[in-house]
Amino acid sequence: MPAIKFRGVDFIQFDSLLTEEERLVRDTARKFIEDNLVPIIEECNRAGRFPRELVKPMADLGFFGASLHGYGCAGMGNVEYGLVTQELERGDSGVRSFVSVQSALVMYPIHTFGSEEQKQTWLPAMQKGEKLGCFGLTEPGFGSNPGGMRTRARKVGNEYVLNGEKMWITSGSIADVAIIWAKVENENDKIRGFLVEKDRPGFKADDIHGKWSLRASVTSGLSLQDVHIPESNLLPKSDGLKSPLMCLNQARYGIAWGAIGAAMSCYDCALQYAILRKQWRDQPIASHQLVQDKLTWMISEITKAQLLVLQVGRLKDAGKVEHQHISMAKRNNVWMALECARLSRDILGANGVADDYPIMRHMMNLESVKTYEGTHDVHSLIIGQSVTGIDAF
Ligand SMILES: Cc1cc2nc3c(=O)[nH]c(=O)nc-3n(C[C@H](O)[C@H](O)[C@H](O)COP(=O)(O)OP(=O)(O)OC[C@H]3O[C@@H](n4cnc5c(N)ncnc54)[C@H](O)[C@@H]3O)c2cc1C
Repeated sequence: MPAIKFRGVDFIQFDSLLTEEERLVRDTARKFIEDNLVPIIEECNRAGRFPRELVKPMADLGFFGASLHGYGCAGMGNVEYGLVTQELERGDSGVRSFVSVQSALVMYPIHTFGSEEQKQTWLPAMQKGEKLGCFGLTEPGFGSNPGGMRTRARKVGNEYVLNGEKMWITSGSIADVAIIWAKVENENDKIRGFLVEKDRPGFKADDIHGKWSLRASVTSGLSLQDVHIPESNLLPKSDGLKSPLMCLNQARYGIAWGAIGAAMSCYDCALQYAILRKQWRDQPIASHQLVQDKLTWMISEITKAQLLVLQVGRLKDAGKVEHQHISMAKRNNVWMALECARLSRDILGANGVADDYPIMRHMMNLESVKTYEGTHDVHSLIIGQSVTGIDAF
């Protein structure tokens, strides 16, 4: 079977809805992924290796903090930023996760809740990829319900002392700084964000091994035992649980685009394979109605997903987006991508389980993407609450 090369997916002239600049950003990211990530990703996935060598080139293209303004950031529009995450995830969800964390979960909160000094210290260096960050919200006992967190910060003189455990933290052990969300004892347990540098005594990051998903991304557990940080490490404008939820909204938006990239990769691979692969009377499997039905389902759902997230992006640019809009895009598009991965895997038969093709890797990655940043069902509850006015959590 000849090598299959991605050709792009556009059924209803979706590109005509994009500006020239948006198409240029997308095409630049696409070429970068094709030239730099696609050739190494299967090796990284097998070895469970994060391709750190791509950090600097991604920084040079403005991928980190891409939609932020100032401090060296690219100041992209939300659709441009989304198209970048689409292309990254077309390459691999793990690499897209790394960029999402650096941008939406670390640079965004520093930009939004940080002091001027914190912004000057961290943002230019993070934009250049010289410093990496992670986002510590989830704990061993609290995932979907982060408000239950046990991690505590206590103000003692001009320092804070942090204690607690964080779990499933992307980039945990490679990060120079962790944003740790903790309840402040002296403020009636209000949740606030803290910058914790990796070399603070009492701070430890240990990688989680044995993941069958996001193998090209580092995932760690963090432990904080009497970690002393100066009071200037508090993100001064962080103010309760809504602050980390605002960060998650940023990341979920990027994921909604990213999932389309994974779906496009699977669909285009399955389509090309179905035309090349012959079974019965020397005919391509693409000539069978049942195979065409699967391809039709995929291209229809990809197209609907593109339109959904484009509208959410336009609303975001206009300052009119609501969190439930982003929940709908994340929930729908990740589910859609996972279904595309399963159908594509099926079309490739036995070849579908091999890493000569990207499909099984995308499928396994998407299982994490379905769970993190609010599970599929948690987003059902967010949308349900929005339409009924009733909290069903
Ligand atoms: C690879 C990976 C990377 C991650 N990276 C990060 C990171 O960088 N930073 C970070 O803070 N976290 C991270 N996470 C954690 C992720 O956000 C959590 O896994 C997620 O929030 C779900 O929490 P949980 O795993 O504890 O599942 P649980 O909350 O225990 O949920 C388990 C199941 O119960 C369901 N459920 C829960 N509550 C309800 C309800 N009220 N009604 C109906 N069903 C419900 C869920 O939908 C799910 O199906 C990562 C996770 C993974 C897998």
